[in-house]
Amino acid sequence: MSADTYQAVRGHLAHLRLIAAAEALAAELDYARDNKLTHTAFLERLLAIEVKASLSRRQALLERFAKLPAPWRLPDFDFDAQPSLDRKLIEDLATLRFLDDATNVLLIGPPGVGKTMLAVCLARLAVESGYRCFYTTAADLAARCHRAALEGNWEQVMRFYANPRLLVIDEVGYLPLAQEAAAALFQVVSRRYLRGSVCLTTNLAVGQWAKAFGEDTSVAGAMLDRLLHRSVVITISGDSYRMRAHRARSERLRGGQK
Ligand code: ADP
Ligand code: MG
Repeated sequence: MSADTYQAVRGHLAHLRLIAAAEALAAELDYARDNKLTHTAFLERLLAIEVKASLSRRQALLERFAKLPAPWRLPDFDFDAQPSLDRKLIEDLATLRFLDDATNVLLIGPPGVGKTMLAVCLARLAVESGYRCFYTTAADLAARCHRAALEGNWEQVMRFYANPRLLVIDEVGYLPLAQEAAAALFQVVSRRYLRGSVCLTTNLAVGQWAKAFGEDTSVAGAMLDRLLHRSVVITISGDSYRMRAHRARSERLRGGQK
């Protein structure tokens, strides 16, 4: 290939923003010549380089967008420590089939039993499978909606929460929600209803929801209707994982002193 043609090809690739292919061009031309590749085989290799780069860019974007608060993965989850948990059910969720029909996942239990960890593990699997996910706490969601109402971009923020294939809403019920916050949460859940999965964690048994949503029990009821209509409810009982580890350690220490 003449220097002019080479420069022209590089220029075309750059213009089309095929940066990885542009950077690999010289090496790939050498490789093609040395190995007597056909034109098609050469082109395939060059395009594959660009496709790979584009996929990993997309993956990095999804990763950044999701705002997952921890690097937890499902294999790190200690099922033996949580016998109340149906392992089969979690493994079934890990296939991500629940995303196909916008099934919601409710994780209910006291603090420290791994609700956030499980939600994050599922979201990480989803991100790695190329789904757009977003993690938020209920308090952050409420604050963002409050700001949106003040700044006049409510609709935009609603679309933002409606968009991801999986929305994790963590820690519902830890703080009692003001009426406005409860209304925002209800709106988000309504917009996603039957269209995109919500994975919600809460310390509240379903019967206690009304209390956490201020005086307006009808909002709590309507929201639960939508959340539960197509859902997997996972109730985790038992002790906090950290407390358990702590206790096991002290028992070991006490045992050692004997
Ligand atoms: P919750 O959201 O239910 O309050 P977290 O998911 O935040 O609890 O878990 C609290 C801590 O304990 C985290 O550091 C988490 O990684 C760890 N943890 C909880 N359950 C397990 C478990 N079964 N296996 C491994 N780590 C766990
Ligand atoms: Mg939590």
